[in-house]
Amino acid sequence: FKSASKKCHVFLPHLVASLEVEETYIMIKPDGVQRGLVGEIISRFERKGFQLTGLKLFQCPKELAQEHYKDLQSKPFFPKLVDYITSGPVVCMAWEGVGVVASARKLIGVTNPLNAEPGTIRGDLAVQTGRNVVHGSDSPENGKREIALWFKEGELCEWTPVQEPWLKE
Ligand code: ADP
Repeated sequence: FKSASKKCHVFLPHLVASLEVEETYIMIKPDGVQRGLVGEIISRFERKGFQLTGLKLFQCPKELAQEHYKDLQSKPFFPKLVDYITSGPVVCMAWEGVGVVASARKLIGVTNPLNAEPGTIRGDLAVQTGRNVVHGSDSPENGKREIALWFKEGELCEWTPVQEPWLKE
């Protein structure tokens, strides 16, 4: 049984809730900012119980967008994606918490907003893959990589939320 659950973790990581404290990079894309959804989107992560450790409004240079999405550079939509991400300011955020990487992806919903479940950010607030309002890291490794890419030293805050005893046993 033990090895079966291990296998499950290997093949279906998105279905297995992590018990590790992780960090993830969440970004409200230019359409989310332009449409006035910043407060709504931040609220969803706050209300879930995750901890905000970095936050800034930022006009992304082309090179940074290319680096952030470098795994997709061979895709036909890559130039369009870079144009989209650099088309206006984004809100860069670092969030910390137990299992935050996969949980944030669940809160965000799948890539195509028309397939995203109601109740998710994309399911509730967007209609097109190329205008899907928010980004979330897809693994703890990418969470660390992306936070290091988007935030400079000194821009992140370590702090203890007063509500912690009411969130964790
Ligand atoms: P996700 O953001 O859900 O992790 P991907 O990593 O596959 O999704 O893609 C990154 C981003 O690239 C998507 O959020 C979306 O903005 C854009 N994208 C993905 N596929 C397409 C597509 N077929 N056409 C246009 N944009 C796309």
